[in-house]
Amino acid sequence: MKYCPLCTQPLRLMSHDATQRLSCPDSACGFVFWDKPVPVVAAIVETPEGVVLAHNRAWPEGLFSVISGFLESAESPQAAIERETAEELGLTVHDAALLGLYPLPEQNQLIIAYHLRAEGSITLNEELDAFKIIPATQLGDYDFGPLTLTRRLLDDWLAA
Ligand SMILES: [Zn+2]
Repeated sequence: MKYCPLCTQPLRLMSHDATQRLSCPDSACGFVFWDKPVPVVAAIVETPEGVVLAHNRAWPEGLFSVISGFLESAESPQAAIERETAEELGLTVHDAALLGLYPLPEQNQLIIAYHLRAEGSITLNEELDAFKIIPATQLGDYDFGPLTLTRRLLDDWLAA
């Protein structure tokens, strides 16, 4: 964010409670860009054959991740991940269980992670162009490359 969304002046770094934040220099306006993290839901989607990993069209080739998405206004995180999984993979989902909360500061997101079970045949939506199903016993050795949060989610689930 470069400009004040209220009065359009260029924002400047100013001190608020000992933290530098982009702020409107007009004291009558007073806008502060707090840069709060965005909640994102994610799921380890387990089918009878194994865990589904998907490749987003916008990503470099070869990167596969757990399923994730954004919440709609007033939607519960569990409803959001059930909806995202159904939309992105075309599967019937059930038994969602919260796995944990994971800050992802490099994207300024808070990941709300679930494990859920799913059945059916996979039909990818327009966001995804490939998927893999990895048996749980082989996930410990799978190379997620730079997707260290996906690695962490799966390690936490496997350890549990
Ligand atoms: Zn302003």
